[in-house]
Amino acid sequence: MKPFEFFKPATIGDASKILADYGREGRALAGGTDLLIRMKRGQWTPRAVVSLNRIAALRAMEMNGELQLGARVTLGEIIRSAEARGQFPVLARTASKMAGVQVRSLATVGGNLCNASPSADMAPPLIALGARADIAGRDHERILPLEDFFVGPGQNALVPGEILRAIFIPRPADGFFCSYVKLEHREAMDIAIAGVAVSAQLAKSAAEIRNCLDVRIVLGAVAPVPRRAKRAEEILRGNDLTRERIQEAARLAASEAQPIDDVRGSAWYRRQMIEVLTRRQLLALMTAPL
Ligand SMILES: Cc1cc2nc3c(=O)[nH]c(=O)nc-3n(C[C@H](O)[C@H](O)[C@H](O)COP(=O)(O)OP(=O)(O)OC[C@H]3O[C@@H](n4cnc5c(N)ncnc54)[C@H](O)[C@@H]3O)c2cc1C
Repeated sequence: MKPFEFFKPATIGDASKILADYGREGRALAGGTDLLIRMKRGQWTPRAVVSLNRIAALRAMEMNGELQLGARVTLGEIIRSAEARGQFPVLARTASKMAGVQVRSLATVGGNLCNASPSADMAPPLIALGARADIAGRDHERILPLEDFFVGPGQNALVPGEILRAIFIPRPADGFFCSYVKLEHREAMDIAIAGVAVSAQLAKSAAEIRNCLDVRIVLGAVAPVPRRAKRAEEILRGNDLTRERIQEAARLAASEAQPIDDVRGSAWYRRQMIEVLTRRQLLALMTAPL
């Protein structure tokens, strides 16, 4: 590993100033489970590493009409949080399927998003939940829909000096459902080959029929960035959930994926799996308890 300057600021303002001063040669450090591996491999050689660990504001997890999830909250803390398990079970379930216990005790939600891997597991369910990224710079702040936060593989919308401060997640209304399923080669410690998150606001339209007032379908690991399958969503939005519509939406979702061939799976296989994962989650909504 190349030598670097190490900073431990106590405020977001100080961290942001140091990062702005070093520009592209500065890196924030949260849990380090992505960053340190890349540095050890020599893939990243920052001149400055700015630890976010002393900044208490980044660790908050509060419900104020919506959930404010601090960027430094770890996957382990999400799993243990009664708030997350009760109101946002998809987040606790997703976190519990990521890595292993040791990594989860360090790895943060903000680090997962900022690392911007196409297969980042937190991204699809958070986008499906309608989350927004709360970003702080040296002398400004801004809020971005999370779906606009990802720019390309390993690239996010932050400019030098900006820090992801928190994720804001709207409180779900009655009749709201959200799930995320990832396909992996083994049950644990594996990266997604393909993943789909589905969220829906449902109402009963007839005895056994659910009407889909709103819906989001978010694809992971099958495009340069996590992306919504908007044509598939359109087929369902405002309509009754029927097997035919679900079949068509799943087919469209697969057509909206842009998968690549790699060691974990072929593009063809990934596309097939997007259809299967989308269809299964939509079919489950047909009998969701309302
Ligand atoms: C064994 C193992 C298994 C894994 N399994 C999975 C898995 O199943 N699914 C999955 O998605 N990932 C997995 N990962 C990847 C990794 O653990 C996660 O992406 C993790 O959430 C990263 O968080 P971190 O806090 O460690 O980030 P760090 O490594 O500290 O940072 C990652 C990047 O984000 C930047 N950054 C971090 N926080 C901020 C912030 N608040 N503002 C601005 N920039 C910031 C850093 O500068 C760096 O560029 C695994 C990793 C390992 C080692």
